[in-house]
Amino acid sequence: MSGPPAHEGPGARASAGRPPIPDADAYLADVVQKYREHVNPFLAEFLSFVGFGVEVYGEGCYIEDHAGRRYLDCLGGYGTFALGHRHPAVVAAVKEQLESLAMSGKAFFSKPAADLAAELASIAPEGLQYSFFSNSGSEAVEAALKFAKVATGRSRIISTVGGYHGKTLGALATTGREKYRTGVEPLMPGVEFIPYGDTAAAVAAIDDRTAAVIVEPIQGEGGVHVPPDGYLRAIREACDRTGALMIADEVQTCIGRTGTMFACDHEGVAPDIMTLAKQLGGGVMPIGATMGTASVWEKVFSENPLMHTSTFGGNPLACAAGLAAVRVVQEDDLVTRSSDRGQLMLALLRDMQAEHRDLVVDVRGRGLMLGVEFAADEIAELTVIQMLKHGMCAAFTLNNPRVVRLEPPLIISEDEVRLAVDTLSRSLVEAAEMMATPT
Ligand SMILES: *Cc1c(COP(=O)(O)O)cnc(C)c1O
Repeated sequence: MSGPPAHEGPGARASAGRPPIPDADAYLADVVQKYREHVNPFLAEFLSFVGFGVEVYGEGCYIEDHAGRRYLDCLGGYGTFALGHRHPAVVAAVKEQLESLAMSGKAFFSKPAADLAAELASIAPEGLQYSFFSNSGSEAVEAALKFAKVATGRSRIISTVGGYHGKTLGALATTGREKYRTGVEPLMPGVEFIPYGDTAAAVAAIDDRTAAVIVEPIQGEGGVHVPPDGYLRAIREACDRTGALMIADEVQTCIGRTGTMFACDHEGVAPDIMTLAKQLGGGVMPIGATMGTASVWEKVFSENPLMHTSTFGGNPLACAAGLAAVRVVQEDDLVTRSSDRGQLMLALLRDMQAEHRDLVVDVRGRGLMLGVEFAADEIAELTVIQMLKHGMCAAFTLNNPRVVRLEPPLIISEDEVRLAVDTLSRSLVEAAEMMATPT
């Protein structure tokens, strides 16, 4: 079972020098068994079917499993690993913080939170002066929706079909896919869905009863959809006209992922509220942030500074990680890198599409947030399984299983970009052969 890694990527094995796990098969069996009995037997079944082992080690663009197999990580916690796994600057910052104070007492001022909030304000679109810190994307969205209601005194929220904003009850009310909502309804009332990227529909829906429009500047889980130019600006203008607030959900697109610092920057649009998470913790700590304007904060917090709180939110370890991550992105100019490598990858994917027009319907995206749309769910599924066999992780988007997303670390090299697309092409060909062979 523990043979050589299925593909030999450039560079040394990530775990070089670490002893292998002695009985890899037993190690895997133990973990799978515990998942079956105590975590989620159905998830255990699914992960085993696709062929995932146990993750044990991560460094840079690679993740390694219990059997010492190394994978080029183009899934990366849905974009979490913008800096790769365990970036040394982020690890060092967290270790240093750990030596003085790990969690917040919640009564004192906290310097890591202050520093990160100031840093975010300096890079965010204009007017986003304040940050509320939490622990995940869903929590960041919960706060955003709540702030919008309180700040406007209105309750109607507009979201988009295929939009993904999380699975907690409030966030789920704005997540545009039936599959996750069935059996949970009624959810938070007052949410209306409009088709994504349809400017006229957005402008028509936003009126003076609207508290907020929540929109991903690039729709991630919906299948990596880039809206037409001017879409975000039109929403901004409609919000200005009606007094509604614009919430940009940048949980997946923040901090360089799409080739600009924030995806809103592509249109130069500044929302009233912006949510961040995934890559904000530098791939080392979980953290979410809800940013907002002075006007929003005034309305939410002026009468009650504790109107919204979180015990773990803004903890020193997570904020130290966030601050280090944002600095690395700036100092190493990973935003430009994301744009350059993204263009290369997109061009290579377009070549692949040209060769396989019957199997690949579309390739799209911005920066290193790319999606490949296959002709059928089954091709996407089989291709992902084959990619894993060849040492590369990728996955479907949650709201559109026909689209495989590629979100590698922004530190990925040109060679690794080529390797990723080669592996994808090869896996696609194999998937097509498997489908053509009657079983
Ligand atoms: C992942 C995601 C969320 C939810 O974040 P979690 O950390 O999984 O709770 C919300 N919005 C967008 C756009 C996301 O991609």
